[in-house]
Amino acid sequence: MIIVSGCLADIKCRFDGKAKPCEEVIRLVAEGKAVPLCPEQLGGLPTPRLPAEIVAGKVIQSDGLDVSERFQRGAEEAIKIARMVGARTAILKARSPSCGSGKIYDGSFSKVLIDGNGVFATICRQNGMDVKTEEDY
Ligand code: SF4
Repeated sequence: MIIVSGCLADIKCRFDGKAKPCEEVIRLVAEGKAVPLCPEQLGGLPTPRLPAEIVAGKVIQSDGLDVSERFQRGAEEAIKIARMVGARTAILKARSPSCGSGKIYDGSFSKVLIDGNGVFATICRQNGMDVKTEEDY
């Protein structure tokens, strides 16, 4: 079983209330090979919500609010689901502060990328999962 970011499976769970559908991910879910989830919603954040980026290890919304605790809680709930379904692989939305893998935004809200991982992608790796992005397909 594979865990996938909900927004890649055409669920409108992104901060802007939209999805980022990926045909390959939608096909995996339709075939019963993947489970979609959204760590930010699982952390109790509303949709739509303000964008957030990681700054010095904390997750900060564009209005300056520290939402680290909600991101962490959501990632922990999401990894519970991954364990329940026996997932060893995750296909997660590139560059997200939760799901991003390898590259994330630098915290300046100006589309500048730096090396790093989102909160959920980090927990997935710590649990031995293979983490990819939709751009690997
Ligand atoms: Fe998509 Fe992940 Fe952001 Fe949810 S937290 S909207 S699944 S990128």
